[in-house]
Amino acid sequence: MLYVKNLEKSYQSGNKSYPVLKGIDLTVAQQEFVAVMGPSGSGKSTLLNCISCYIPFENGTIRLGGQELKGLDEESLARIRNEKLGFVFQDFMLLDGLTVRENILVPRIIQGSVSKDAKALADKLLSLFGIEHIAHKYPAEISGGERQRTAVARSLINQPLIILADEPTGNLDSKSSLAVINAFENAKEHLNATIFMVTHDSYAASFCDRVILLKDGKVYNTLEKKEDRSHFQDRLLASIKEMSTES
Ligand code: ADP
Ligand code: MG
Repeated sequence: MLYVKNLEKSYQSGNKSYPVLKGIDLTVAQQEFVAVMGPSGSGKSTLLNCISCYIPFENGTIRLGGQELKGLDEESLARIRNEKLGFVFQDFMLLDGLTVRENILVPRIIQGSVSKDAKALADKLLSLFGIEHIAHKYPAEISGGERQRTAVARSLINQPLIILADEPTGNLDSKSSLAVINAFENAKEHLNATIFMVTHDSYAASFCDRVILLKDGKVYNTLEKKEDRSHFQDRLLASIKEMSTES
């Protein structure tokens, strides 16, 4: 589904170049729920933005559903963004003047038409994520967890190849975080969704099938969940501790 090989990205400042991603290799399979963790500044958002077609990268390969990103023009990249990717951000990014149900349909409205099928999928998502009772409320009238579940539903309305989420639980209390993680799990189970999530929260990450640890722009370790959630979280925390004590 997602294939990243030897990805390198630097930022320029004056005539200096600061390497941020220094040869990242990773893959995400269809219907996998994968988290990326790592210290602040390790390049997590930069990695996500490269995969999102938001920023260019110098070296390496990114393939999404078999399609290579390098060499595509702006128009093709915009089409991939709109049709093949779903996004969930830390601060929801909902439109205040639209209801929950209308917000979920926004990506279809942008494409020019809202079909019967799209409306049916919106209603299915509302029910799957337990937010049908607030379908006609506005973002200001609902909780943070409900806003983020609305954003997850919106990210799925185009049936994307993959959902890219940057700190989706970053602004939520633990109960709301769990509701959002459950929404991802439901999307995976019932809609075959594939999710790639950046998080600093080991609790949220412990629900994933696999966790990729990033350090200084490289993959430090990849942990696959083979045990129950709470033991996986313990193993995760041990690996993060080891990563932070190694220089
Ligand atoms: P993370 O999400 O893991 O905290 P980022 O990918 O946001 O890390 O940032 C990695 C490094 O790249 C940091 O040192 C940050 O200061 C730098 N950086 C991020 N975005 C830019 C930018 N647009 N221009 C220059 N430097 C940037
Ligand atoms: Mg970040």
